[in-house]
Parts: sequence; structure tokens; C-alpha cells
Amino acid sequence: MKTVSVNIVTPDGPVYDSEIDMIIAKTASGEIGILPGHIPMVAPLEIGSVKLKKDGKSEFVAVSGGFIEVRPEKVTILAQSAEIASSIDLARAQEAKKRAEELLQSKQESVDFNRAELALKRALNRINAYEGRL
Ligand code: ATP
Repeated sequence: MKTVSVNIVTPDGPVYDSEIDMIIAKTASGEIGILPGHIPMVAPLEIGSVKLKKDGKSEFVAVSGGFIEVRPEKVTILAQSAEIASSIDLARAQEAKKRAEELLQSKQESVDFNRAELALKRALNRINAYEGRL
């Protein structure tokens, strides 16, 4: 069976590098499934989980936005941050979720709501990836 090479890179360094059977990612215009031999494309990524299927098993990586570049034999994801599910600190993500929710509920004018919403999205995404959900 044909495979496609997937590289996930962040400003802190490489996070994932493997040959896989299929990858599912959340782009700004919707979820895409990529099989080996996919036509070339570049798309911005949402804060979301990337699902990597290999030998009948699935692995999840939490990605906090960036770009996906697809070529027939290689997929590269350049992400602001990315964590393989097994390396996610669940307690830290739950704390971040709580902090963001408290900020969003506060009535203080000094709160940057956009920033708090993005922090909440990142935290929920990490919790989902840890739990094996997209
Ligand atoms: P926090 O408030 O917990 O720092 P954050 O969303 O502000 O969360 P980021 O700025 O997105 O964090 O990431 C900073 C660094 O910390 C990145 O290298 C990221 O991979 C890592 N990171 C953030 N949260 C977690 C987590 N729950 N588990 C593992 N690594 C994490």
C-alpha cells in the first residue's frame, strides 16, 4: 500500500515525521482527508487536531493554526505550536481552559476577549486531541 510522508514543524523544531496511510486536517474552509498521491495544494489551518492513520491505527496531533502544504508524496504542516497527543499535559490544558473561561465571563473592560477565545480554543483542542477526538 502507498504511503505519504508527513512532517509537522513548529518554530521550536520538528514534532512529527512519519510515513502514514491518510491524514485528516482542519483547514479554514473545512476538514480535508489526504491520501498518498493528492494533488498539490497549500491551505491555512485552523486550531484543530490532525488525525494520522497508519496500519489501521490513528494518532492525533493538536495543532494551533498554521499552514499545510500538500504534494503527492509529502505533506508538510508548519504550525504555531503542535503536540502529539501522548505528550500533551492534560492538567495544564484544563487549567488554561479554566483561566480562559473565567476571563470570558468577567465583565472587566481590560479583558482582551479575542485573545481569551483563542486561548480557550487551544485548550479545548489539546483536550480533544488527548482524548482522541478531532
Ligand atoms: P498555556 O497557557 O498553558 O501556556 P497556551 O495555549 O498559551 O497554553 P502556547 O502559547 O500555545 O500555550 O504554547 C506554548 C508552548 O507550550 C508550546 O511549545 C506548546 O507546544 C506548549 N504547550 C502548551 N500547552 C501544552 C500542553 N497542555 N501540553 C503540552 N505542551 C503544551
